[in-house]
Amino acid sequence: MSAAQLLEEVLIKRSQQKKRTSPLNYKERLFVLTKSDLSYYDGRIEKRFRKGVIELNRIRCVEIVKNGGHIIRCQNKYPFQVVYDNGMLYVFAPSHDSRSQWVQTLKDEIKENPLVVAKFHPQFWLDGVWMCCRQADKQAPGCEEYNLFGDISRKPLPPIPGEERRRKAPPAPPKATDESTGPEQQQQQEEEVEEEEVVVALYDFPGAEAHDLHLEKGQEYVIVEKCDVNWYKARNKFGEEGYIPSNYVTEKKCGNLVQFVWYSKHVNRSKAEELLKKENKEGAFIVRDSSASGTYTVSVYVKSHGEGGSAIKHYHIKETQGSPQQYYLAEKHLFSNIPDLIEYHKHNAAGLVARLRYPVGKQDTSAPSTAGFSYEKWEIDPHELTFMKELGSGQFGQVRLGKWRAQHKVAIKAIREGAMYEEDFIEEAKVMMRLSHSRLVQLYGVCSQQKPIYIVTEFMELGCLLNVLRKRRGSMGLDLLLSVCLDVCEGMEYLEESSFIHRDLAARNCLVNDSMVVKVSDFGMTRYVLDDQYTSSSGAKFPVKWSPPEVFNFCKYSSKSDVWSYGVLMWEVFTEGRMPFEQNQNHEVVRMVTQGHRLYRPKLASENVYGIMNKCWHERPDKRPSFKDLVPKISGILEEDAPPTP
Ligand code: ADP
Repeated sequence: MSAAQLLEEVLIKRSQQKKRTSPLNYKERLFVLTKSDLSYYDGRIEKRFRKGVIELNRIRCVEIVKNGGHIIRCQNKYPFQVVYDNGMLYVFAPSHDSRSQWVQTLKDEIKENPLVVAKFHPQFWLDGVWMCCRQADKQAPGCEEYNLFGDISRKPLPPIPGEERRRKAPPAPPKATDESTGPEQQQQQEEEVEEEEVVVALYDFPGAEAHDLHLEKGQEYVIVEKCDVNWYKARNKFGEEGYIPSNYVTEKKCGNLVQFVWYSKHVNRSKAEELLKKENKEGAFIVRDSSASGTYTVSVYVKSHGEGGSAIKHYHIKETQGSPQQYYLAEKHLFSNIPDLIEYHKHNAAGLVARLRYPVGKQDTSAPSTAGFSYEKWEIDPHELTFMKELGSGQFGQVRLGKWRAQHKVAIKAIREGAMYEEDFIEEAKVMMRLSHSRLVQLYGVCSQQKPIYIVTEFMELGCLLNVLRKRRGSMGLDLLLSVCLDVCEGMEYLEESSFIHRDLAARNCLVNDSMVVKVSDFGMTRYVLDDQYTSSSGAKFPVKWSPPEVFNFCKYSSKSDVWSYGVLMWEVFTEGRMPFEQNQNHEVVRMVTQGHRLYRPKLASENVYGIMNKCWHERPDKRPSFKDLVPKISGILEEDAPPTP
C-alpha cells in the first residue's frame, strides 16, 4: 500500500438504486481511501478498473447505517453510508471493527468540510422510501441530528503541538497487488510533491498558546499544513512553526488583490465615499468589489472640483473581450493585471480625475475574530476570565462583558440552571466554533467543567440590533439600513452554504459593533432551549411572526425558512424596529399568513426593497430566493440607491 493511502480493503457496495424499480445488487469492490478521495475498484488498483471515485471534499456525511430489521442480502453485515453532493453510497464491511475503522477515518478526514449535513437518515433508502422516517423523497432532509464527532471524540484529539499528525497504520491489504512500484504510485508521489504555498499576514496575531505562531502584518509565511478551515500550521522566515488563524493571511499570488493595501473587499459605494471624505486628501483612492461579482471599482477623491467642492468619482475596471484578457480604466491604457493597472495610475491620471495617490481603507481595519482562541481550543479556563459590567439577559441567562487573559474583550453568557440542554450544546459547540465569518458573532469557547456553564463569544459594543434600530429612529440613512440588511444576508449566506439552519433569525438575535457592522448571533440555539413556551409552535414565546407556514404548522425548518425570517428582519430594519403584526396575536397571525396576508410596505422601503421582502415570503419554500441569490440583489440596490456624490 502506498504511503498516501489511509485504508484499503475489499468491501461490498450496494448499487445506488437510481430508479425505484431497479433491483438492488451487491458487488465486491476494493475500496481505497487516500487523503483526497475514496475510490473503489473492480479487483485491482488501476485506473481502468476504477468503478467510482468521490473526492473527500464533496462528502457531507459518513455514518453507520442502522439496519432497522431489514435483511441484509450480502455476506457482509456491517453497513455504513457515505453521503456526497446529492448521491449516496452504501458500503458493507465484513466486521464491526472494519466498519468502525472506515467510519472513523472518513469522519476524521471530512471534519473540516464546510458542507457537512446537520441531519441525516440513520436507516436505508429502500424501494423508494427512507426506512427511518418513511419519507418518499430521496432528497428529503434527514430525520436525525448528525454528529460528526460522535465517534471521533474518543480518539486522541488534538495532535500534540509540534508533532506531525500521525495516522493509524491501516491493516494489510486483503488482496496482493503489485502496484507498489507501478504508475499509480508514481502518480501519487508526484501529487505529494506540491509547491509550497506562501501567504502574507493581513494582521498581527500575537498567538494565544505555545503552539501558535506569532504573525506580523505584511510578513510572508509558508503554509505547512491546513489543519482546519480556520487554522493552518505555518512557518516563518526563521523556520519556526505554529498554528495561525487562516483569516489572518492571504495567498501571495498574482491576481489575489487582498494582499494589497489599496484593496478593500467589504466596502460598498457609500462606505467608500465615507472613508474617502474622512481622509480628505487629493487623490485618496480605494479599490473595491463592484456590485456585479468578479468586477472591481476604483473610487477616487479630489478636493476641489468644478464649483470648488470636493468630488468622488467611481470607475469600473473594465476587461477586454477575448484572450489574453486585459484590464483598463481609461481607454488605450491596457494592463495584463489589476496591480499593474493601479501602479500605472499611481503615476499617471491618464483620463482619471486625479492620479491615485493615497490608498485608503485597510490601515484602520481592526483584526477579525478568530475561530476560537487557538487551534482546537474550545474549553476556556474560567480563571482566565474577568467579569465587567452586565450587558443584558435573555432566554439562557445573564450576559456580561468580560476579558479573556486580561486583554481580549468578550461577552460571557452564564447559563441559568434548567434553561438549556447543556450536554447537547457542549457537543455542538465544537461544530459551531468552526463557523467563522465576519458577519457572524464568533463563538470563542465554553467553560463546561463548572456550574453555571459559560458561553464565551465575541463582544459587540452596541448590543442588540433591535434596540439600535429603535434608539436611532429617524437618524439612519437608507444606505445604512440597506447595509444592515446586507451584513445579515452575508452572514446567513455563509450559514446556508455551511448547511446550518438558524431557526430564530430576527433583529433581536443580531448584534451591532462600534463600526455599525451587524452580525448574526444565537444561530441554532433554539434547539437547546428547555422551555416549551419557546419551542412549541403554540407556545407564547414561539417566534410565530418570523415563521413561515411550514414552520408554524409542521416545524419544518430549512435555510428557506430562515429566508422567510430574513424578510421579516428586513421589515424590522425598514420600520426602524417596529413589532411585526403589531395589532395581532400569534394565533391571528397564523390565520392571516395562511390566508395569504403579508406585512405592509414600510414607508422607508422602496418598491425594490419591498419586492425582495415579498419574495422571501413566498408560501412555497422552494420558490423563495436563497441567501446566495439575495446578496447580489441587495448590494446592487445599495450601489444604485447610494446618494449622489456632491
Ligand atoms: P439569550 O441567548 O440567553 O436569549 P441574548 O443572546 O439574547 O440571550 O442576550 C441577551 C442580551 O445581552 C442581548 O439582547 C444583548 O443586549 C446582550 N448581549 C448578548 N450577547 C452580547 C454580545 N456578544 N455583545 C454584546 N452584548 C450582548
